Amino acid sequence: MSAASRAKRNNPQIDVTVLEKTLDVSYSACGMPYNIADPARDMNDLVVRKADEFRTKNKINLMTGHMVNRIDTATKTVSGIIFSDIIALGSNSSVVNTDDTHQDVVNTCDARQDVVNTDDARQDFSYSYDKLLIATGATPVIPDLPGFDLPGVMPLKNLEQGRKIKAFIEKNNVQKAVIIGMGYIGLEMCEALRARSIQVTMVKPGSQFLPWMKPELADFVKQELDANGIKLCYGKIKKIEHQSSSKHTLSVVCENFTLDADMVIVASGVKPCSDLAIAAGLKVSVANSIAVDKTLKTSNDNIYAAGDCADAFNVVSGEKCWIPLALRANRAGWAVADNVCGIKTELQGVAGTAVFKMFDLQITRTGLSVKEALASGFDPVEVIIQTRSKAHGHPGSNTIHVAMTGDKRTGLLLGVQMVGKDGVAHRINAPAVALHAKMTVAEFAQTDLGYAPPFGPVWDPVLTAANQLLKKM
Ligand SMILES: Cc1cc2nc3c(=O)[nH]c(=O)nc-3n(C[C@H](O)[C@H](O)[C@H](O)COP(=O)(O)OP(=O)(O)OC[C@H]3O[C@@H](n4cnc5c(N)ncnc54)[C@H](O)[C@@H]3O)c2cc1C
Repeated sequence: MSAASRAKRNNPQIDVTVLEKTLDVSYSACGMPYNIADPARDMNDLVVRKADEFRTKNKINLMTGHMVNRIDTATKTVSGIIFSDIIALGSNSSVVNTDDTHQDVVNTCDARQDVVNTDDARQDFSYSYDKLLIATGATPVIPDLPGFDLPGVMPLKNLEQGRKIKAFIEKNNVQKAVIIGMGYIGLEMCEALRARSIQVTMVKPGSQFLPWMKPELADFVKQELDANGIKLCYGKIKKIEHQSSSKHTLSVVCENFTLDADMVIVASGVKPCSDLAIAAGLKVSVANSIAVDKTLKTSNDNIYAAGDCADAFNVVSGEKCWIPLALRANRAGWAVADNVCGIKTELQGVAGTAVFKMFDLQITRTGLSVKEALASGFDPVEVIIQTRSKAHGHPGSNTIHVAMTGDKRTGLLLGVQMVGKDGVAHRINAPAVALHAKMTVAEFAQTDLGYAPPFGPVWDPVLTAANQLLKKM
């Protein structure tokens, strides 16, 4: 929708059609855990702009309930299936209905996809294009194991799944939940479920908690989980079973233990939705994401890809990467619109800046970890420091832990990770800008950052880390 709106702003005469398989467009997926946490909030609060506004105000031909299942690059057409039952409910308008009927239909639509995808013969619609943007996003990784299709076992990727989780909690008196996966969505959901007084256990097959994070910092995240009563279990998951004889209706069966639950959230990662692109013969790269150049063009001159389905250049390593996050998706949408409208735009790339909150903790990163730096051929050297979030003696000051990595050979700043309860989230933005500017650690250490006692020490924590790192370089 970012691309469609921008294209219409650039050139009101351009004919823009958007094909969306669900009824929902333009909503904040990132806000779902916080919305689920609060029973008083309606899930539709997350809708930023209703479908009908795009149709009437932006004059975009927005077709919801339209699932594309084929791109024909020779005839420059896309075709697919219309979910007329969904459209009947939504009248192809802005209807976002949370009643049971609606949910059943949309869920059926999700379940039908696998069947429909293989049914190339059925074509309910076909549109031709001059330029095509693939913006199909990412899809949750659902382990191919028994029981992952049981009622009460749910991923969280789109708004309909958010509605489903919230309604399930409300209707089923959920007291115990298991979250499969310990990535940022799983961790955000921990907080959301605890806010609903639900007991939470997290489980994952590997033994390393937050593998991208320096273990010394990851330990503080574990301590915060522990302080909030979250149990972490590690072990190979074998299946999920329905239990009729127990107080809790589900059990997650692992190799050496079994976890009871009323609800299971599957948060074991996402993968790019690139099947359509692959079938159309487009090149893919890291993790099967659609390969694009800096103008977001794919290996086909008339097709662009943007958002979670596409790759990006990493500004630190210069290599291709796949980091599915919201700012890049929105920015790439704009860039595609500009390029299609003749305003040549190149995107520099991503630093992999990410931030999330878990209970009272703020967790953030930008750039490369030591492991990633080694894999990209750098000679990484690292410091971990502990300092304060506010000036000495200032009330409310808290500990901030900073890990900073630089390259011994070139002196370049490579990455920063931070954990703390105060002043962490936005502090990552200065190092993120430094990475885009390809600064050395020495140059970063000389930057003129702001200071006042309520906001930080005279030497900002990231500057203290840079000064310490310089001693090792
Ligand atoms: C719970 C949660 C929390 C998140 N929190 C953050 C955060 O704090 N910060 C952050 O940066 N990012 C966050 N993200 C990630 C962020 O939401 C995504 O990076 C962003 O939505 C990607 O946008 P997109 O347009 O590429 O994909 P999407 O928003 O997924 O949109 C893709 C659309 O394509 C449709 N589609 C797919 N296939 C077809 C088809 N064949 N035919 C028709 N339509 C199709 C889908 O239905 C979907 O509507 C979060 C995600 C989730 C799920």
